[in-house]
Amino acid sequence: MNWGRDNRCKRRKTSAKEWRKPVFEFLGVAGIAISMLAYMPQVVHLAREHCSAGISRRAWAMWLVSSLLVGTLAVHRGDLVFILLQISSLPSAAVILMLAQRYRGMVCEVHALRSQPRQPDRPRALRGEAASLLAPTRPAR
Ligand SMILES: [Zn+2]
Repeated sequence: MNWGRDNRCKRRKTSAKEWRKPVFEFLGVAGIAISMLAYMPQVVHLAREHCSAGISRRAWAMWLVSSLLVGTLAVHRGDLVFILLQISSLPSAAVILMLAQRYRGMVCEVHALRSQPRQPDRPRALRGEAASLLAPTRPAR
């Protein structure tokens, strides 16, 4: 009978799987933390500057709906990492969407300056190498 030997092999495989599980859960939680950090600059800029420059309300509305749908699946499967991801991203998307709606069309000074076309300080033809090409050259007499 090989009962003891088979059990040992099974146990070894299980323990390797068990060892990997916390590593992948840690990676998932780290990904959630990065995701949360990624939302922060957007939320802070919207809230402080009342500036919605570059924010697509349609895209954020779609991410909100997407988060709800994926969250539903995560809850159905009981997948803790995906539930946590949706718990973190759902309110962030909702807050960004709400602030973007409240401050739609409003732009802070920095974004207003960035959106203006650059004004060259001298005519284009006189910049760089073009200046030497356009400089009048008179034949020596
Ligand atoms: Zn701005």
